[in-house]
Amino acid sequence: AQEPPPAEDIGAGDLFIAVKTTKKFHQSRLDLLLDTWISRNLPQGGGSQPGTTLGLRKRTGRYPGCSLPLPPSPSPCQYPGCSLTPSPSPCQYPGCSLQLPPSPPHPLPTYIFTDGEDEELKKKIGSHAINTNCSAAHSRQALSCKMAVEYDKFIESGKKWFCHVDDDNYVNVRTLVKLLSHYPHTQDMYIGKPSLDRPIEATERLGDNKMRPVNFWFATGGAGFCVSRGLALKMSPWASGGHFMNTAEKIRLPDDCTVGYIIESVLGVQLTRSNLFHSHLENLQQVPRSEIHKQITLSYGMFENKRNIINMRGAFPVEEDPSRFKSVHCLLYPDTPWCPPQVAF
Ligand code: UDP
Ligand code: MN
Repeated sequence: AQEPPPAEDIGAGDLFIAVKTTKKFHQSRLDLLLDTWISRNLPQGGGSQPGTTLGLRKRTGRYPGCSLPLPPSPSPCQYPGCSLTPSPSPCQYPGCSLQLPPSPPHPLPTYIFTDGEDEELKKKIGSHAINTNCSAAHSRQALSCKMAVEYDKFIESGKKWFCHVDDDNYVNVRTLVKLLSHYPHTQDMYIGKPSLDRPIEATERLGDNKMRPVNFWFATGGAGFCVSRGLALKMSPWASGGHFMNTAEKIRLPDDCTVGYIIESVLGVQLTRSNLFHSHLENLQQVPRSEIHKQITLSYGMFENKRNIINMRGAFPVEEDPSRFKSVHCLLYPDTPWCPPQVAF
């Protein structure tokens, strides 16, 4: 299929990227994301050391256009979006003649959906950490409970695109924005990678013990997928305010299948396939090394009892960077302070 021309001038702030996680993965999985791709889309962009606070208030890093590193905060210079008033205003960066830029046009696109309180996480990402109060079990109900909250928060946000990813996904936000800019957000769009090579066969429960076979395609949640606002609004009778869980029960399938069911079976809108989304259910070694920067999502994990990671030489050896996400991040954003100086990898 030929790529349509850009339809809309959108930025990262027009996206609502929901990351599904669970309390037991906050350290082992989420911190890696906060240190890499999520950090790039904090209000000031830039990067900081892995392991340091990436919060909206306390940040270290480099002031754009100024060679001086930012002082440890709280600094006299507050960041846009903070509750403290900058003084003097407009805030002058000490030792640098440049002034802080005006508030960026796009606020943080990423929201974390979890199932437990975590003060550390709140410090890092503030109100974008959302406790769904869903059960922490890996059950179908618990997972569709989270998807239901993701959906409701997206609708509330007013943003143009809803994207869902797991906490073992790296998101190349720049290429994601580029892909989505080819479609008007007011049109019906459902984009992702099909989970299977054929439509799933399910049984819809109609009540009165009546059943009906249904076939539909769905995008695998573990590779990430996106839904336009136009389509999301049409999903509302089956997805909003708790209806999503009832719909999931009607077909007794996981959350990502339920999304496909609502979109394809109920609304008759077809999944737009993209092979730039990747889950660890596929062989990640097959992502060509020279095209890693073009991918929209990546993952890592186990596949057929073997470690499944992308094949790349990069800034860090596999022992230091088993997911490869730090190396991917340095490939995409070589100016990140903790990335080794750029060399030909
Ligand atoms: N997950 C969850 N609750 C759980 C277990 C997992 O919300 O009890 C989330 C997890 O954080 C991840 C997604 O569900 O975003 C998929 O989990 P995982 O990668 O462990 O399993 P997979 O289905 O990919 O094998
Ligand atoms: Mn996974």
